[in-house]
Amino acid sequence: MSERKHLIYDPARECMSRDELTALQNARLIETVKREYENVPMYRSRMDAKGIRPEDIHGVEDLKHLPFMDKRDLRDYYPFDLLAVPQSEIVRIQGSSGTTGKPIVSGYTRNDVDIWSEMMARTLTAAGCTKEDKVQVAYGLGLFTGGFGAYQGADRIGAMVVPMSSGNTQRQILMMKDLGVTLLCCTPSYATYLGETIRDMGLVPGRDIKLKAGCFGAEPWTEEMRIHLEELLGIDACDIYGLTEIAGPGVAFACLEKEGMHVNEDHVIAEIIDPVTEQPLPYGQKGELVFTTITKTGMPMLRYRTHDICYLTDKPCDCGRTFARMSRITGRTDDMLVIRGVNVFPSQIETVLVATQGVAPHYMLIVDRVNNSDTLEVQVEMTEEMFSDTVSHIEEVRRHITEQIRSVVGITAKVSLMAPKSMPRSEGKAKRVIDNRKL
Ligand code: ADP
Ligand code: ZN
Repeated sequence: MSERKHLIYDPARECMSRDELTALQNARLIETVKREYENVPMYRSRMDAKGIRPEDIHGVEDLKHLPFMDKRDLRDYYPFDLLAVPQSEIVRIQGSSGTTGKPIVSGYTRNDVDIWSEMMARTLTAAGCTKEDKVQVAYGLGLFTGGFGAYQGADRIGAMVVPMSSGNTQRQILMMKDLGVTLLCCTPSYATYLGETIRDMGLVPGRDIKLKAGCFGAEPWTEEMRIHLEELLGIDACDIYGLTEIAGPGVAFACLEKEGMHVNEDHVIAEIIDPVTEQPLPYGQKGELVFTTITKTGMPMLRYRTHDICYLTDKPCDCGRTFARMSRITGRTDDMLVIRGVNVFPSQIETVLVATQGVAPHYMLIVDRVNNSDTLEVQVEMTEEMFSDTVSHIEEVRRHITEQIRSVVGITAKVSLMAPKSMPRSEGKAKRVIDNRKL
């Protein structure tokens, strides 16, 4: 990986000085606010209600005066009422996967598709991709932005694209092997499934499979899962973040330093706010991620609340990029489980499970209410080796997991060890929680 380590797609932008970047952001923000105010009645009335005029916004410093936007707005003004351009300027519709309710759509102009492709070209380059690479797109190609995003970025670089979309796992692996695919794009949960199937087919990464790197994202995953995937596939695994409303994948991307994700700050401004008080939080403090697009023309988003939880840092990165980095997402405010009054994120449980010998990273959290008290069951698959081990050893592992969960999240869960390959596999975004209390 050393020779690929610090490739940068657009050094002039990605390594610009913070002063230059701030000046660029200021100019672009002023322009965006003006356009939004003139063209989107909903946002105009929201600004009017706060007594804010476009002239009051002089740059990033004034961002805090602007009203927020939210997924609810995309539902309420579905499908076109947030467009800042005539519908004839829209060349693409993409939709969210609907993880948290009714799916939403976003309209992209030619400019927006272009920006997005550029962000994805930067993303793939940061993972070491050049035009010599063969990129397998195993994110769904369709309304979901994952597939098209990866396709556009790889195409922009001039790499050889293998547009598989998700699913059809055997065929994926056949193509990977026959074509000598070097870079894989899919969700981390699907990468796990692909990695296991590769091994089940008797293929050896490095010998039969030439993968060097993967750009994995679209769902929360832990540092432990990254290490697991790197070992499973013999690759560098890079985190990639995005959302339909802002641009699709590539809004932020990990470089090969693998310490957080650089935010494409010439296209978006990131803030962290306290989700309750809605006040901005300083670098280093964890809270809700909020984005303002400053180059998008179709459906610009101002202070869009993502509900994703992370922190930002402007610490310099060894790769040379100056863009601030966001940490791994530890969860969404809306997938936080409150169990017997304790806040639990699925990622905390994943950290415990992936670090435990003898279980595979396939798990499900089942929450229920029995006799007026919340219960949490953690179902996790055993490995083949563990499955054929002694009953007392299996029981020991079960106890170990229970204790670890208690010490990490502070509640006692029922841990059920499941037979190998008995749990559903994910080809896209994994479903990790069943909350029967909501039924
Ligand atoms: P949704 O999943 O809300 O239907 P999208 O398909 O647009 O909509 O996905 C965007 C969401 O996916 C983000 O808001 C975030 O919650 C999640 N996501 C995307 N990339 C990552 C990542 N690298 N790590 C964690 N979560 C991610
Ligand atoms: Zn970096």
